Amino acid sequence: MNFELTPQQIELRDAARKLSKEVFQDKAARWDREEEFPEENKKLLCELGYLGLSVAEEHGGSGLGLVDTYLVIEEIAKVDLATALIVHEQNVSPRIIATCAPKALQERLMPKFISGELECSIAWTEPEAGSDAASVTTTAVRDGDHYVVNGQKVFTTYGDRADLHLVYARFEPSKGAKGVGTLLVEQGSPGLAVHKIQHKMGVRGASENELFFDNVRVPIDNVVTMGSAENSKGFVQTLTIYNATRVGMGVMALGVAEGAFELARDYMMVRKQFGQRLADMQGLRWMMADMWIQIEAARGLCYRALSAIDAGKPDPCMSSVAKVYATEMAQQVVLNCQQMFGGYGYFGLLPLERMFRDVRMLTITGGTTQTQKNAIANHIFPR
Ligand SMILES: Cc1cc2nc3c(=O)[nH]c(=O)nc-3n(C[C@H](O)[C@H](O)[C@H](O)COP(=O)(O)OP(=O)(O)OC[C@H]3O[C@@H](n4cnc5c(N)ncnc54)[C@H](O)[C@@H]3O)c2cc1C
Repeated sequence: MNFELTPQQIELRDAARKLSKEVFQDKAARWDREEEFPEENKKLLCELGYLGLSVAEEHGGSGLGLVDTYLVIEEIAKVDLATALIVHEQNVSPRIIATCAPKALQERLMPKFISGELECSIAWTEPEAGSDAASVTTTAVRDGDHYVVNGQKVFTTYGDRADLHLVYARFEPSKGAKGVGTLLVEQGSPGLAVHKIQHKMGVRGASENELFFDNVRVPIDNVVTMGSAENSKGFVQTLTIYNATRVGMGVMALGVAEGAFELARDYMMVRKQFGQRLADMQGLRWMMADMWIQIEAARGLCYRALSAIDAGKPDPCMSSVAKVYATEMAQQVVLNCQQMFGGYGYFGLLPLERMFRDVRMLTITGGTTQTQKNAIANHIFPR
């Protein structure tokens, strides 16, 4: 068991830390305030080769492990979750295509994902199919050399700006989860309508959207995984990628918690009340010590789960454990750090208020805390 980072990993992490502090930190409030996608950050991340870090070299990616990739994302999340999410998302849908799609589709799309030319949203959740993700009712019905898609999606991140949507649809209505497959719907296809969801709480540099499919015709070449009774891989195959995505949510939460912790620590060393620094008050020192313990525990859980995936021995239960612990921990840590700033922490002039709103998302998306606990309990009590 080795807990040490390699010299290359330290170099990668430190470069991402420098970039985050020097370039991303000061602009983070703007994306939130203006509800604007951090386009210039994405451009820079692309130029520096941060998109597709975990995508295999044969597909034009960097071929790095998930541990390496999330060391970078953690550093960015310390200062700006909206920008960290760009790197995270650009490492999810391309990995699905690289792992599950037919070769022709991979060759057509992968170079464009890595160059940042193409973005792909993941359109899975529906109004009546949230945690129960296998119950999607959007249909894909064969008609000659096309599939005709009908249905509705909700909460699709980047649905308004993505060039492609990876849509989870029912290919064989009577086959349960086995009948669910995925296909790529191009933005602007006739019959596709996209509505941005308003009044979002946090991570306002990313948008969530409703997608409406009214007889949208999709060429058969755009099928990523076929949902059929004969090929049950269709639905299950893409789930292996979400195993890592789930831990990724945990790592981003870890980053936000660390960012908030550092701000609180620095403030406590200068703020004085009753003639002493906050950093010298025993009750507050213990709060900080408790948070330090929780942050270190989350780090251990997340990177252990990612190491297992990198080693080809994914442990879905560990991924759920890491996600639940890190995301719930981060909510509490950000709240406690905000408390250290007293009244000042309540206002948007400091990043704490934004961090509190941002981190809230991570216990919900990628599988809620409750559904992850169901998975953990199923591991404890096998059916
Ligand atoms: C900011 C944001 C971004 C998102 N991005 C995307 C995206 O890009 N693509 C996409 O497809 N989806 C996305 N989602 C959707 C997200 O995955 C779902 O919101 C999530 O899976 C929960 O589904 P739901 O909202 O329908 O809640 P529900 O499933 O209705 O759950 C409601 C509550 O009941 C609990 N619950 C449900 N079932 C059980 C159970 N069996 N036992 C105990 N408790 C249970 C849940 O934990 C939750 O607390 C996003 C959501 C958010 C908030």
